[in-house]
Amino acid sequence: MQRMTDAQYATYRSELATLVRAGSVSSTHPDFDQSNHGVLEAIEAMARARGGRVQWFEVSGGRGAQTTQTHQGAQSAHSAHSAQSRQGNQRTQNKSKCEGAAVGSVQSAGAAAAAPDDAVGPDGAAGPNALTAMAGQASRAKSNLVASFGRGPGGLVLSGHSDTVPCNPDRWDTDPLVLTERDARLYGLGSADMKAFFPAALAAIDAVGPSRLTRTVHLIATADEESTMAGARALLDAGLDLGTAAVIGEPTELRPIRLHKGVMMLEIAVLGRAGHASNPALGHNALEAMHQVIAALLDYRAREFSQLENLAFPVPRPTLNLGAIRGGDSPNRICGRCTLSVDVRLLPGQDPHAVQTALASLVQAAVVGTGCSVTVAPLVEPVPPMHTAADGPLVGLCEHLAGREAGAVNFATEGPFFNLLGLETVILGAGSIDQAHQPNEFVARSQIEALVPRLARMIAHFCIA
Ligand SMILES: [Zn+2]
Repeated sequence: MQRMTDAQYATYRSELATLVRAGSVSSTHPDFDQSNHGVLEAIEAMARARGGRVQWFEVSGGRGAQTTQTHQGAQSAHSAHSAQSRQGNQRTQNKSKCEGAAVGSVQSAGAAAAAPDDAVGPDGAAGPNALTAMAGQASRAKSNLVASFGRGPGGLVLSGHSDTVPCNPDRWDTDPLVLTERDARLYGLGSADMKAFFPAALAAIDAVGPSRLTRTVHLIATADEESTMAGARALLDAGLDLGTAAVIGEPTELRPIRLHKGVMMLEIAVLGRAGHASNPALGHNALEAMHQVIAALLDYRAREFSQLENLAFPVPRPTLNLGAIRGGDSPNRICGRCTLSVDVRLLPGQDPHAVQTALASLVQAAVVGTGCSVTVAPLVEPVPPMHTAADGPLVGLCEHLAGREAGAVNFATEGPFFNLLGLETVILGAGSIDQAHQPNEFVARSQIEALVPRLARMIAHFCIA
C-alpha cells in the first residue's frame, strides 16, 4: 500500500477527533467510573459506514441483562441507551470547556481554550479539583464492542481499549478533548494511548477493501483497561471464537512486543489487639508482627526471585516492592492493626495465583507466636504476564515489517487475556508510552502513516486466502 493520501489522512484525523471528543475516563476512583458508550457509539458508526457487523457485550451496568446483542438487537436497545447517556454523562464531561465545540472537530494550532483553574495534585497528576472537573456524572455503564468485517473462520483481531486515564486540563496547552494538530503531531487525551489505533485499523481495512476478505477481521474496543481490565476479562469469560491472531494497538512506536511482566498488588493486613503501652501483656502488637512479615517477604524475594531471570526485560528479575504501610495511632497504645500494600511484577512463566498462595503461607508462618493473625488479599485482580511464542506467524510478520525483533515492555496490557483466548497476540501501535498518561499527549502523523500500511499487510496476510 502507498502512503496515505491527504484525503485518507483527513478521514483518519476526523475520526480520531470524534473518539477523543467522546471522552471515557477510567479509574478506580468512583467519580471516574464513566460510561464508555460514547466512544463505542462512535466506533460503531465508523464500522457500519464500512459495512461492518457490530455486537455489544455488556461489562458492567445499565445495558440490560444478557451480554450479547446481535446487530439488529443492539440497534434499538442501544439508541434508547444513547439518548440517556448523552443527557447523563458523556457529553457533559468537561462541559464548560467543550460546549460549542462540534463533535469531531479538529482545532487548529494556537487556538487552545482557556482551562479552568484546577488544583494540581502533589505528584503533578490530576488533583481533587481536576477530578471533579473531568468526572461529570459518574455512570457504571461499560461495554465491549466487536465490529466484524468479511466472513469466514480464522482471521485477525485488531483490538484497543476505549478508555483513558483521567487528566488535568489545567496542565494541557490545548483542550484535551479537542484533537489539535500542530507540527505534524495530533494532540488530545488518549491520542497515543490508544484511540489512534481505531481509525488506523479502519483505514487499513479500507486500504485492503472489505469485500476482498475471505476471513474475518474483528475490530474490538474494550472497557476499563486503565483501571481493572474488566473488559478484557469479560471477553475471556465470553470465550468468543475470534480467530488465530491479535494485534493490540498500544503505543509501542511500531515495535512488536510479545512479552511483558504480570502485575499483582496485594494488601497484607495484620490484626493484633490494642492495649496500654505501659504493659505489653495487655495486647498483641500488630506493628511488631508486621516487622516479621516484612522480614519474611524480603527473605522470600532474595531467595526465590533471584533465581529467576529473563534478559528480554530491562529489569530481568521479578520484583516485590513494599509500597505503603499503615498502622497504629499513638505512641502510648499497642498497635492493634497494621496493613502493608505490595506490588509484585512477575516474569512470563510465573503464575500470579501460585505466587499469592506462596506469599500467604509465608506471612502466616511469620506471625506464629505473636498472637496476631494475618490476611493477604489482592487490591486489584492480577494481570498475568504476557508470553507470546517467538516463532509464530504473526510475530514473524510483525518482525519482518518492523525490521526488528519482537521485544518486551515494562507496562502491562490486555495481551495475556487474548493469549488465553487462543490468539497469537502482539502489542504494536503508533505513538510512545512516554507520551501516555501525560499532559499534551500526542501521536505523530508519521507514526500513523507508517502504521496503516503495516496493518493492511497483516490483514491481507491473515484474511485473504
Ligand atoms: Zn493503553
